[in-house]
Amino acid sequence: MSGAKVVAPADRTVIGLTFGNSNSSIAYTVDDKAEVIANEDGDRQIPTILSYVDGDEYYGQQAKAFLIRNPNNTVAYFRDFLGKDFEHIDPTHNHASAHPKEVDGTVSFIIKDKAEEDAEPSTLSVSEVATRYLRRLVGSASDYLGKKVTSAVITIPTNFNDKQKAALLAAANAADLEVLQLISEPVAAALAYDARPEAQVEDKIVVVAELGGTRSDVAVVASRGGMYTVLATAHDYEFNGVALDKILMDHFAKEFLKRNPSAKDPRENARGLAKLKFESEATKRALSIGANASFSVESLSDGIDFASTINRLRYETLSRTVFEGINRLVESVIKKAGLDVLDVDEVILSGGTAHTPRIAANFSNIFPQSTRILAPSTNPYAINPSELGPRGAALQASLIQEYEAEDIDQSTHAAVTTVAHITNAIGIVSLNAAGEEIFVPVVPAETAVPARRTIQVAAPKDGGDVLVKFVEGNTHIKVTQPEPKPKEDKSAKVEDAANSDEESDFSDDEEEEEEKREKVWKIGNTLAEAAVRGVKKGGKVEVTVQVNADLSVILTTREVGAKGGVRGQLSA
Ligand code: ATP
Repeated sequence: MSGAKVVAPADRTVIGLTFGNSNSSIAYTVDDKAEVIANEDGDRQIPTILSYVDGDEYYGQQAKAFLIRNPNNTVAYFRDFLGKDFEHIDPTHNHASAHPKEVDGTVSFIIKDKAEEDAEPSTLSVSEVATRYLRRLVGSASDYLGKKVTSAVITIPTNFNDKQKAALLAAANAADLEVLQLISEPVAAALAYDARPEAQVEDKIVVVAELGGTRSDVAVVASRGGMYTVLATAHDYEFNGVALDKILMDHFAKEFLKRNPSAKDPRENARGLAKLKFESEATKRALSIGANASFSVESLSDGIDFASTINRLRYETLSRTVFEGINRLVESVIKKAGLDVLDVDEVILSGGTAHTPRIAANFSNIFPQSTRILAPSTNPYAINPSELGPRGAALQASLIQEYEAEDIDQSTHAAVTTVAHITNAIGIVSLNAAGEEIFVPVVPAETAVPARRTIQVAAPKDGGDVLVKFVEGNTHIKVTQPEPKPKEDKSAKVEDAANSDEESDFSDDEEEEEEKREKVWKIGNTLAEAAVRGVKKGGKVEVTVQVNADLSVILTTREVGAKGGVRGQLSA
């Protein structure tokens, strides 16, 4: 980071930040606990919007309200434009606010940000907009903490490229903020969960579904001994929170026109559209909590007020395409990682749209029961999905704040990017009760290296010489088809179906038995064999596998409590 703003560790006040296209959040840590803080408007999810009225700058929720009356001087949905050429941006979401323009090759907004009536509008590059916005966030954080915030860890999507990162760093530096580190959103979410005092650090495969307003990003992350490895990612810009708003906007506009056949379509007028959007988003959020929600707008079109209600089931039916798109995204990324849903221990739902109960319910159907679905509607211990990013960033900031800037860059980079890891598990062969050979894992697959793991296994009950066979292990999915049903059952079911008028789209067919899918280990290549001689009756053997950074392996076996042992090294 040449030329970057650097603060001496002793002089730092640090925070964690999320800076999204839709919302941003601030968190800080007290006594190792991360807290998301509210800005002066009382918001913890602060809209990423700036608005200028008579030379005054508004940000967050206040700026969002100006989308209705002052859209041309209101800048929204700009984060993803940082570090991009004009021809590579997608301005879809800017149709109802200031439009991005190409000025001297950069993405810019032309805004009246001065008080004088006759002042020329200013050309603000997206970097300048980001800097002004970040300055406001830092200002709110400093006011809250009562001291000047100097430094932050900021979360970014996993597909941010070097140019985008550099542009974000530069925008933050220009706002007088030292960026300690940029960490990926899924790692921040995983950290927020793993840092809880009651959390057990265990090896696990985690799927993080980061569901926001303009994008849905899903990542498969291997967590091994507190080290996170991103195994695969997928990104989507179609099935998102804005798409859900649009569904409700169309629904209520149609209902309005049905009740007022001679009125103009509110979607054809900028103010009507902005009002529809604002209220539809509020209705959508209310549907995450209640089974019914109201919708009410004054003077929606032609001066006519409109009020209505919608229930959750109707909303879910209308939004089915979006929900299915999110399901497919999750399934595709697991496949991309070469894994199966049965390999996934935990699914973390993160981001504003992750509050939607139907999305979590759908995930419960995709994954086996053994997978923990961490969302407010499926798990009472779930953390607020909107707070995972900022909390994770704040925890990371407090962990690294004591280091000099140059050491942070070197020592922590690998932890949050893709690091070297082993593909197959390494373990030993043992016998089960039926006398069949089974695989016992010592180092799980996808473990970041270097890694060292030890297990103890019971020796045969009479003791003696124990042969330990080290092997690679991989899993495969064993599918057991259900027993075919007796004939008469089947005909009864056909009759049943014929009698019912219409089957609900959401009813699961409980009659149908599903095939059974389970994860089973397969014994792979033999790596080495070692004999531990003369083990005592009832004794135990300790097995250690150490995988070095160059992927060479050191295997050690010895009798527990005895001296010596057998040790061998395999090259990569
Ligand atoms: P992006 O960068 O993808 O635009 P973001 O990270 O900036 O998103 P988030 O706050 O994570 O923003 O997500 C914003 C989306 O979440 C909006 O579409 C918002 O309407 C939606 N949202 C917020 N709260 C809820 C809720 N309780 N229920 C349903 N949707 C919600």
